[in-house]
Amino acid sequence: MNEILEAMQREHTPIVLTDSRSLRKPEQSVFFALRTANNDGHKFIPELFAKGVRLFVVEQVPEGVDAHFVVVGNTLKALQQAAADFRRTFVGKVIAVVGSKGKTLVKEWLAEALTARGSVARSPRSWNSQVGVPMALLGMKPDADFAVLEAGFSEPGEMEALEEIVRPDVVVATSASADNCEMMKMARRAEVVVFPEGLSAELPAGAMKVEVSLPNPGDWMESDAILCREALRLFGAELADETVRPLHTRLDASDGINNCTIITDRFTCDSFSLDSAIDFCMRRKPADRKFTVILDTLRDGVNPPQLSGVDRLIYVGPGGLTADEFRQKVSVGDFSNELILAKGEEGGVVATFAEQLQARHHETVLEVNLDAIVHNFNHFRALVKPETGIVAMVKASGYGAGAYELAKTLQTQGAAYLAVAVVDEGEELRRAGITMPIMALNPKVTNYDSLFTNRLEPEIFSFDMLHEIISEGAKRGIRNYPIHVKFDTGMHRLGFLEEDIERLCTTLQETDVVCVASVFSHLATADCLDMDDYTYGQLNLFSAICDRMKAGLGYAFKRHILNSAGIARFPQYQFEMVRLGISLYGVDTIGVAATGGLRTVSTLRSIIISVKEWPAGTSIGYGRRTILERQSRVATVPVGYADGLDRHLGNRAGHVWVDGTLCPILGNVCMDACMIDITDAGESVGVGSSVEFFGENLPVSDVSDRLNTIPYEVLTSVSPRVKRVYFRE
Ligand SMILES: *Cc1c(COP(=O)(O)O)cnc(C)c1O
Repeated sequence: MNEILEAMQREHTPIVLTDSRSLRKPEQSVFFALRTANNDGHKFIPELFAKGVRLFVVEQVPEGVDAHFVVVGNTLKALQQAAADFRRTFVGKVIAVVGSKGKTLVKEWLAEALTARGSVARSPRSWNSQVGVPMALLGMKPDADFAVLEAGFSEPGEMEALEEIVRPDVVVATSASADNCEMMKMARRAEVVVFPEGLSAELPAGAMKVEVSLPNPGDWMESDAILCREALRLFGAELADETVRPLHTRLDASDGINNCTIITDRFTCDSFSLDSAIDFCMRRKPADRKFTVILDTLRDGVNPPQLSGVDRLIYVGPGGLTADEFRQKVSVGDFSNELILAKGEEGGVVATFAEQLQARHHETVLEVNLDAIVHNFNHFRALVKPETGIVAMVKASGYGAGAYELAKTLQTQGAAYLAVAVVDEGEELRRAGITMPIMALNPKVTNYDSLFTNRLEPEIFSFDMLHEIISEGAKRGIRNYPIHVKFDTGMHRLGFLEEDIERLCTTLQETDVVCVASVFSHLATADCLDMDDYTYGQLNLFSAICDRMKAGLGYAFKRHILNSAGIARFPQYQFEMVRLGISLYGVDTIGVAATGGLRTVSTLRSIIISVKEWPAGTSIGYGRRTILERQSRVATVPVGYADGLDRHLGNRAGHVWVDGTLCPILGNVCMDACMIDITDAGESVGVGSSVEFFGENLPVSDVSDRLNTIPYEVLTSVSPRVKRVYFRE
């Protein structure tokens, strides 16, 4: 038998942990120390041991930790092998769902429908990766009548590896993929394959093939339902009409009433997805907040559930409140300064209540996709050497997207530093529980106590600043405080000059209050494709300055000069660190191959609150600056210049995106509203329709081009009164 499974049984540790932040029940958890491009799980062993974890699967045994270790050559492979061996003990049918779209939906529908035929185990949420699939399997009960999993791949060879683990009896393909052959490797040894008509891939010879024709492939809900019905027919099960509903896979985090943060989860309400939602919350919970869970009736498991790490549970269901009791007893005013997870399916009493908890001043939101941030970060991670540190620029409140949520996300992703503009921004991040190194770039420091106690590392660009921090530090008995010395190599904004080096080194050698953590400079023309001579001049000057500084100081420091465009274009000058700004937010300022495939992070959207039909000749707005040239449908949207909508976009200079149509902005933009022409938009557009000002469908660079400015300005102009809503897909 598998050594790991044996140890798990002996130590009574059924919970598989690969991320230290997901720890909930230490004594029941086994930790697999995985090594990834950005991280090494072995680092977290002492911390987890201190918290009570006793069983570890490792490649190397750390010193001084008196726990049980299973030592393996490769922890990921060992995790996969344990799952594969565990799979062999399954008694029921194993069903794998593959496809480029709709996997999670089909998996959930199948699992729900199959409960009529027996006990069902299913993989949590969208766990379909090389780590997610084995973890999902190891979390299942082997005696279930059905096990339903989804499997995905991003690299060739991955599906084959997953097939070795899952060994499905039935494979359901929801859609074609970019590489059908790779996808269908999951079906290599399956008994039955259900797939949409026309899927071109070699299918296993021995299998029963159920080719399903989909009359409206564009209607994905109908198509997925047809596929499910065909698959369920194999087991004599049916898809109930109420099961056919969209899945809300997103976890939305937003500001709530009374300084609460509300995380809403409208995914299938079962114990698996509850676990992963709690996990999501625990990771982002500031230490000083209470954690409250408001939960609608679970479809499975213990009622009411026992949740560890949760300060307060309000449960609607058997053993808890009835829906009526909930409506009567629980009110919005009962909550303050809490992190609240509200989990319940659409239409239920909890989902409805969650909407009331969200501080809804008006309907305008800046949606921030945290997965896109992670994607973009990893995109650049792959462009630089593994040992190069990435400084994530979260100045100006994360280019308008909100520094805290981004910082939390980037801390997890293994950024080397965060960079803020002013000390206040850094202070706020510390207060919210961000522990990673933070650089302050333009610190007009008025409060050195705050700087030092919050461990904010200042940029030093003049002798005045240097003398001041040395004397302020000396007063407080500080030693070796890290500073970042900036040189001006051609930007002509701030920084020491080459001729300052000698005096600078002398000053620094005479003190032990501060030490140079890094020397850096900033490029003026990294995104100007016709000015590379100038850029190379800066790069070479910087390199020479660093050499002289090192000789003068007698110790090494980190060096960095590249911003987003610089990283993409001059990677040979990455030195020890790079500073990633605008591209982290998904904006490609240069359009070279290296910046292809970035994902949009911020979307500014609102809704139509009024629609009127006007004849040609009608004037719209203040000063009658737009006169309609044709009979038009004109809609009003509650976004004005006080929200950050530039007035220069009025009078048809700019447009918005509504349901696939670009609609011109009519008349002068007002303080709190604007009018748009929806004549050419679809029939279904009306009051309540969503309007996008920039983002997913309307690139922010389109808007900035029209304004003759740069995306940075548009992004950072969204006013603080616009609610930021963060989500993961
Ligand atoms: C803003 C900033 C960056 C990031 O620049 P992007 O063009 O947004 O990547 C890097 N370094 C310094 C000093 C900055 O002020």
